[in-house]
Amino acid sequence: MTKATAHRARKPRRCSDCHRTIAVGEVYIRHVASPNDPDVGNEGWWRLSECSDCARRCGRADLIDTRAAA
Ligand SMILES: [Zn+2]
Repeated sequence: MTKATAHRARKPRRCSDCHRTIAVGEVYIRHVASPNDPDVGNEGWWRLSECSDCARRCGRADLIDTRAAA
């Protein structure tokens, strides 16, 4: 199964999509897939970070906005 959750960065990260740096304090989306997910086709745990720009472009603005308001 896959899961996307919004987090506030505590250290700089790199977006897996556009490769820009996600700054400390910026809200980003963390995607996690458990091993052997049928959609991802992965063998082990799979994680990536997605910056707020890419999240909005992909229709996940609600996740970003909810976390940013908290
Ligand atoms: Zn990005």
